[in-house]
Amino acid sequence: MDEMKKLVEKLNDYAYHYYVLDAPIVSDAEYDRLYDKLLELEKATGIVLPNSPTQRVGDTVLSNFKKVTHKMRLYSLDKCQSKEALFSWMQDVREKEENVDFTLEYKFDGLTIVCTYDKGFLKSCATRGNGVVGEDVTPQVKTIKSVPLSIPFKGELIVQGEGMITLSNLKKFNQKYPDEALKNARNAVSGAIRNLDPKQTAKRNLDWFCYNVLYAEGKTFATQVEMFEFLKQNGFLISPYKHFKSPDDILLEIESVDKQKTTLDILIDGMVVKINQLNLRDEFGYTSKFPKWAMAYKFEAQELSTILKDVIWQVGRTGKVTPIAIIEPVNLSGATIYRATLNNYMDILRKHISIGSRVFVRRSNEVIPEIMGLAEELEGAKPIEKPQFCPSCGTRLVQIGALDFCPNSESCPEQIIDKITHFASRNAMDIEGFRDSTSKLLYESGIVKDVADLYVLKEEDLLKLPLFKEKKARNLLNAIEKSKDVELSNFIYALSIQNVGTKTAKDLSKYYRTLDELKVAKKDDLAKIRDIGEVVADSIASYFNNSKNITLIDKLLDYGIKIKNSSQTGNSEGIFKGKTFVLTGTLESFTRAEATALIEQNGGQTSSSVSKNTDYVLVGKEAGSKLIKAKDLGIQILDEQTFKKLLKI
Ligand code: NAD
Repeated sequence: MDEMKKLVEKLNDYAYHYYVLDAPIVSDAEYDRLYDKLLELEKATGIVLPNSPTQRVGDTVLSNFKKVTHKMRLYSLDKCQSKEALFSWMQDVREKEENVDFTLEYKFDGLTIVCTYDKGFLKSCATRGNGVVGEDVTPQVKTIKSVPLSIPFKGELIVQGEGMITLSNLKKFNQKYPDEALKNARNAVSGAIRNLDPKQTAKRNLDWFCYNVLYAEGKTFATQVEMFEFLKQNGFLISPYKHFKSPDDILLEIESVDKQKTTLDILIDGMVVKINQLNLRDEFGYTSKFPKWAMAYKFEAQELSTILKDVIWQVGRTGKVTPIAIIEPVNLSGATIYRATLNNYMDILRKHISIGSRVFVRRSNEVIPEIMGLAEELEGAKPIEKPQFCPSCGTRLVQIGALDFCPNSESCPEQIIDKITHFASRNAMDIEGFRDSTSKLLYESGIVKDVADLYVLKEEDLLKLPLFKEKKARNLLNAIEKSKDVELSNFIYALSIQNVGTKTAKDLSKYYRTLDELKVAKKDDLAKIRDIGEVVADSIASYFNNSKNITLIDKLLDYGIKIKNSSQTGNSEGIFKGKTFVLTGTLESFTRAEATALIEQNGGQTSSSVSKNTDYVLVGKEAGSKLIKAKDLGIQILDEQTFKKLLKI
C-alpha cells in the first residue's frame, strides 16, 4: 500500500507538471515505467486508490479557460511497449472476430483537439481535458490554417484530431524567436493552444491531423476507412493510415515506420492499431479510460532523465576544453549510456543544470548522447564550476567566443597525446592499429614528444614498454613506415590545425595542390575558397605563420614523409563533374569515406550541409533533417542502389 500511495503521489505530481504547467520534470518513458509499476501493483493487490492516475484520462482542466462538457466522451489509448504484446492483442481480437481487419495510424505526440461544426461552419473547439470536460479554445484553434472554417457537410459534426507543430515549423519558429525557443514539439503545441492570447497560437503555425468522427448528424460509417474518406472529402487534414488484415503485415509496417520516423516532419511516439469495422468495435466496448478496440504501440524511448553525477573537463588536440557529463547509467535505444556531451560552459548555463540534479539525456540519430536540459533540481545539487586552469597542465585558460582553450599547445600533456592520436588516425596518416592508449603510453614514457618522433622510433625503445613484445613492436613500426606515403589532404588534416576537418583539408588540397603553395597562402585568399570563412582562414594562416609549426613540418619531411600532391590524385572529369553531394544517414554498402572517395574520383565533391547549391543528397538508413531539407528544396535524392547504378558498380 505504501509503495502504491507513493507512486500515485509521484505520478500525479508529474502529470501536474506535464499537463498543467506544460513543463514535464521526467521523461515520458520514465512516467510510463512508474505507471506500469502502479498498474501491476493494482492488479496484484486488487486495490485501486481513488486518486490513481490509472482511473482517469490525464489532463487537468485549466480554470482560466471556459469549461465545455463534451457531447461524446473522449478516451485515452491503451498501449503496449513490446511488439509481442501488440501481436497477441491482435491475435486475441481475431480469435473473437474472425473477419476483423485493422487500420494502422501514426500515434501523434501533440494535443487532442475536438472541433464541432454546425450547418457547415466551425462552431467551437475544445481540448480533451479529462475526457468529460475540456477547455474552450475556439479562438486559439481558429488560427490553425488546416482547421477548415466551413465544410460541405451541413449536419452537426464533431471531429477529433491532434494539434501538432511540424518540426520544420518548430525550427523556423526557433530561428525567428530565439529568446522564446521551444525545446519540445509536444509542449510547443500544448503551450500554443492553452494560451489566452490567440496571436501566440497563430505565431506557432500549428496543424491539425484528424483521426476520428465522434458524431455526424444523420450519418453512420461502416468502417474507419470510410470515416477517413468522409473527412478527406470535407477538407480535413487526415492522419496518414494504412489498412491491413494480417497482424504480421502490421508488425512489418511498424518496423519500417520505426526506422524512418526521424525523417518525418512530425513527432510521433508510436503507432495505433484500430479495429476497422465500427459494428465490431461496439462489441469490444470501453474501459473507464480507453477503448478496447484500439491499441497503441509506443516506440522505444530516445530520451530519458537521469542524475548528473559529475562534469569532467577534457582537453582536446587544439587546446579546446570540453565538459563531459558523467551520468547515472541509463539504457537508451538499446545501449547503456554513462557519459554525454555538454558542448561548452555557455551550454551548461543555458541548460540550467547542476551536479546532483536530474537531467534529460537524448540519444537520437547521432551516436553521441547529449544532455538536453534540466528535468528537476534536486536537494543538495551543486553548481558546475567553470575551470580557470587547464585540468591537464594547470595553465590559465583563455576564452575565445563561447569556448575555453588551454594556450599551452607545446607542452600540455593531454593536448599532445590527443594530437598524436589524431595524427595517426584513419583520415590523417592512417597508422594501422594505433590507438589513444598507444599515444598515451608513448608520450608518458618520454619516447615520443611530438608527432615527428614517431618516425624515429626504434624497436628497442618499444620493447621497453609494458605489453610490447617483438611482434607488436614490429607491426607498429611497419605501420608507421607505411604511413609515410600520404595524400596532401590527409597530411593537412593530420596537422591538427584549428577548425580544419577532413572536408576543409580536402578543399585546401584541391585548391593549392602542393603544401608549399598552402604554406604561403594569405588569409584573404584562403577566405575566397568556397566553404572557407574568415575564422577558418585565420586559423590556417596563423598555423603556417608560426615558425614552430614550420619546423615540425620540415622535421616530418626530413624523416621521409612523402606527400602526394593533389594534381596526382582526384579527377576533374567523370559523371559527377562539378556536382556537389551531401551524404546523410547510415550507408550500408560503403563507409562515408568510401562514398566520398567514389564521388571525388568521378569529378564531384561533397559538402556537409544541404543548400541550394547541393546537386544530390545520397541517403542511407535513418537519414534525418538533411533529407527533410533536401525534400523541401527539391534536391535530387539518391539511394545507395541508384548511386551504384550511376557508377555502374
Ligand atoms: P497518450 O498520449 O499516450 O495516448 C492517447 C492519446 O493519443 C489520445 O487521447 C489521442 O489524443 C492521441 N492520439 C494520437 N494519435 C492518435 C490516433 N491516431 N488515434 C487515436 N488517438 C491518437 O495518452 P494520454 O492519456 O494523452 O497521456 C498519457 C501519456 O502522457 C503517458 O503515457 C506519458 O507518456 C505522457 N505523460 C507524461 C508525463 C511526464 O511527466 N513526462 C506526465 C503525464 C503523462
